[in-house]
Amino acid sequence: MESQELNCKKCNSCGFLTLSAHYKCPQCSQNNWIDIKLKGEGIIYSYSKINVGFGRMSTKTPYYLAMIQLDEGLNLLAYIDFSFNKKIQINSKVKFHTRSEDNYPIFNVLE
Ligand SMILES: [Zn+2]
Repeated sequence: MESQELNCKKCNSCGFLTLSAHYKCPQCSQNNWIDIKLKGEGIIYSYSKINVGFGRMSTKTPYYLAMIQLDEGLNLLAYIDFSFNKKIQINSKVKFHTRSEDNYPIFNVLE
């Protein structure tokens, strides 16, 4: 499987990490962003199975949304790609795979 890095913004004043564009840092109010790449490895902190989606996601059910805690310290909401039939549970190891068409990160379960 091709290894993907996750593009991220880091506040160069306080170290706050985010995937979203912000004018000012939500933690220190500075505008001092640098672009970094994360390995995108972490664990599932919490997850939900979505059985009824709406809009364009209505045709993609069931799917999983998970809160992921990355090794680099960033917590984020992501889709889980379960096409590999891996068991999804709390503390499952995950790796960033790609971005969805609406720019959400998609992770694979590793074990
Ligand atoms: Zn900051």
